[in-house]
Amino acid sequence: SQSLEDLVELFDVRPSAAPMADADRELALAAPRFGTVFTDHMARVTWNATDGWFDRRVEPYGPLQMDPATAVLHYAQEIFEGMKAYRHADGSVWTFRPEANAQRFARSAQRLALPSLSIDDFIAAVAALVRVDAAWVPSGEESSLYLRPFMYASEPFLGVRPSLEAEFLVIASPVGPYFASGVQPVSIWIERDLSRAGAGGTGAAKCGGNYASSLLPQTIAQENGCDQVCFLDAATGTALEELGGMNVFVVKTDGSVETPELTGSILEGVTRSSIIQLLQDAGHEVRERRIPLDELLEGIGDGSVAEIFACGTAAVVTPIGRLAGTSFDQTIADGGAGSVTMSVRGELTDIQYGRAADRHGWLRRL
Ligand code: PMP
Repeated sequence: SQSLEDLVELFDVRPSAAPMADADRELALAAPRFGTVFTDHMARVTWNATDGWFDRRVEPYGPLQMDPATAVLHYAQEIFEGMKAYRHADGSVWTFRPEANAQRFARSAQRLALPSLSIDDFIAAVAALVRVDAAWVPSGEESSLYLRPFMYASEPFLGVRPSLEAEFLVIASPVGPYFASGVQPVSIWIERDLSRAGAGGTGAAKCGGNYASSLLPQTIAQENGCDQVCFLDAATGTALEELGGMNVFVVKTDGSVETPELTGSILEGVTRSSIIQLLQDAGHEVRERRIPLDELLEGIGDGSVAEIFACGTAAVVTPIGRLAGTSFDQTIADGGAGSVTMSVRGELTDIQYGRAADRHGWLRRL
């Protein structure tokens, strides 16, 4: 098999004729707004059922031209990933567990009947783009280059069957600290009626449709004065699943920690699995289990639940200060950021930014 270096070499670099001026880029890097500014290039690989993957290139960032009959626009045959490139103090650029994202992407592709892209090809595309646009990786505290690999059905055909053509791209956007004024606890609306994903559905895949179905519940959460929505299991509507874009953890007063088990309708977060490991390293018992909402509310009431937090690539770890629903509104402990929450957040970001030893071999230099 080919090495990562050989695979990166396969990408034909077609430099942008109009890259952003250095001064403008520095301005964009100084105060990035999530997902609004993109780097000068994008990585791209094309697939068809006859030839497989071909035409690996890094080309100028720009609009995609699409036939109105393109399959993705009608049947949402699309998957994506979210990861980050971090600049360390010595200037070097690293990603965090890219093979975990590549593996999840492969599982998503399988579920959405999209072609499989090898783990190495996925990482090579990310590396090829980040190397060309290395000047776009910010160096500010808790800043990073957000990477968005995605694949979509590009065949212009209205029949409902797996597309015979696909495109894989990686785009990148500089991001600043998620919490500009220090880590702030968020409030969560527990949605009782609308589901994000059900048994046998696509909840464990990172496909656009899951996010489309989370938008209305998220709007309802905001109408009810909450920051984010948390979904319950679709089958019984009694157990905690996850937020629209983050997994959730519960810290007990006795130091043990619980997180919803992977049922097939929850996304297996890379942050989630890393946090399970870090908590275990620190001596916490971690249970992946079904967490009934009633039990959780009782625990908040009697003080046996000390902290709740959400986690994901974008915000890393976010304390949850309050849970509300149609028939309840409870503050967790004093409503502030808990100590286990903040210490696991610190441990994870210290590894990602090269401030602590990478004892699990999670970082990969780009
Ligand atoms: N759940 C959902 C639904 C998500 O979209 C995400 C973000 N990818 C997560 C959980 C957290 O996953 P990760 O830690 O890999 O970012």
